[in-house]
Amino acid sequence: MKPCTFCGGKVIEIKQDVKRIISGITIIRKNIKVKKCTSCGQRFYPGGLMLDIAEEAQKLLKRRFDPATG
Ligand SMILES: [Zn+2]
Repeated sequence: MKPCTFCGGKVIEIKQDVKRIISGITIIRKNIKVKKCTSCGQRFYPGGLMLDIAEEAQKLLKRRFDPATG
């Protein structure tokens, strides 16, 4: 595992729920593998996860404003 890009500390992999609030919409992903620095506590999320969350937020936003097509 690559060391922390912020402090060079040891990075471990943990599983946790990831919660993001985008435009007032809360998206939760459970049991996501997240890398965490044991030294400074910085978390590193997988790149695809944020994309996935952003896409779901977009869908929910559309549905909110245009319920007929939801
Ligand atoms: Zn660190």
